[in-house]
Amino acid sequence: MIKKVEGIVLSEFSYKETSKIIQVLTKEYGVVSFLAKGAKNIKSELRLATTKITYGFFISNFKPNSLSVLTSVDIRNPFKEIKKDIEKISYASFLLELTSQVAKNNFNEKVFIDLLASLIKIEEGYSPLILSDILELKYLYYLGVMPNLDGCCICGSKDNIVALSSKEGGYVCKNCVTNEPKISQKALKLIRMYYYVDIAKITKLQVSNAITEEIHSFLESYYEQYTGLYLKTKHFLKNLNKIGL
Ligand SMILES: [Zn+2]
Repeated sequence: MIKKVEGIVLSEFSYKETSKIIQVLTKEYGVVSFLAKGAKNIKSELRLATTKITYGFFISNFKPNSLSVLTSVDIRNPFKEIKKDIEKISYASFLLELTSQVAKNNFNEKVFIDLLASLIKIEEGYSPLILSDILELKYLYYLGVMPNLDGCCICGSKDNIVALSSKEGGYVCKNCVTNEPKISQKALKLIRMYYYVDIAKITKLQVSNAITEEIHSFLESYYEQYTGLYLKTKHFLKNLNKIGL
């Protein structure tokens, strides 16, 4: 049965001399693999359509649990700006790798929607670092380890929140705080906004480097502590930031 499914190419692998196998995060079925026959051929219409980060509608003899043979792709966004820029490509690759891990764990249509919205914002020129932080925070929910950002995670109080503890798993109030790392009130409020914001509706994303650093380092230690994910693209990003490209 020929079917059209909406998706984003997460990864591509060579298959035999001229073909490719691509993994696509689809809106309806999670991660699906497609065989793109002849896609390595320079003249093939499938060549560009099957490159990583492409968003479109994939037409195939669709079989959700096995390899579907791709007939054509109706490209909706090739993400040209992202593909031109090493920093943007690196962040997008990290988000794709992270998403494929999240989708394996617990796929929900919202994962697709949030990934697509983030890529569109990166394409439009918004900070890929901040968007990655927002998406990482949202994904904690699907990974089943969402920190408590609605009140103190020890006593439940909604007042006098002064710290964010990866060890305790969320906000900590003035009465419960022990030796949690200090964090600014701005970062405390912003991280909660990151969780609730609708990425597609973002029109302004100006956060100081100092606050971004606070949020980023919390997410880093939280991911290390609770998710057990090791992503090679994240390692690459860290090195890229060190070099200061
Ligand atoms: Zn408390």
